[in-house]
Amino acid sequence: MKTIGLLGGMSWESTAEYYRLLNERTRERLGGLHSAKCVLYSVDFAEIERLQEQGRWDEAGDILAAAAKSLTAAGAEFLLICTNTMHKVADRITAATDVPLLHIADATAEAVRAAGARRVGLLGTAFTMEQDFYRDRLAAGGLEVLVPDADGRATVHRVIYEELCAGIVREESREAYRAVIRDLVARGAEGVILGCTEIEILVGAEDSAVPVFPTARLHAEAAVALALADPASGPEAN
Ligand code: GLU
Repeated sequence: MKTIGLLGGMSWESTAEYYRLLNERTRERLGGLHSAKCVLYSVDFAEIERLQEQGRWDEAGDILAAAAKSLTAAGAEFLLICTNTMHKVADRITAATDVPLLHIADATAEAVRAAGARRVGLLGTAFTMEQDFYRDRLAAGGLEVLVPDADGRATVHRVIYEELCAGIVREESREAYRAVIRDLVARGAEGVILGCTEIEILVGAEDSAVPVFPTARLHAEAAVALALADPASGPEAN
């Protein structure tokens, strides 16, 4: 079993889910008292969020690159960035280490294709929904990506930072997300990517008329497949 390195804390609410999912999946696969071998570097998200807000991505990337070096020194054999948004600086992180990165968008695109969907709605932070780094990766994975309209994007983004990253789950926000999902489905989405690792804390399959693709779960499942060197499932890390 390979040791998984987790770049987490963005936010810790979803990193806690990753930890649970990695261990549950490992126990499902191996049985008994088996659990995932992993090391975690959990950042102070307030520092990262301030740099995001100010567009200082290189500095945020340097913090994560240094954390990635610590993870490899601690024995990590491949890395997960436990957030969709910070994949914006994935290249900066991989340049700092010799170990491979399992990209969250690759794990997600593979699951979408396996479900037979091609045109998908994407929910996430404004950075993830509006910038190229994530949508282009999904498109390279064969998907056509729809994002909510400007009001929908603002709502989805606000709920992530003001509520979900702070551990707050509100019924009215769940209803607002359902409305955004309905609109994406009306525009032809065959599935909806929950492209922020906190969103699956708020909504799930029961909130959508089409399949949802929860990125933290899919990323964690792909990581266990890779850690157990299962060639039958999960994308290659690169
Ligand atoms: N965890 C979130 C994501 O998957 C948002 C927090 C962040 O900006 O990293 O994008």
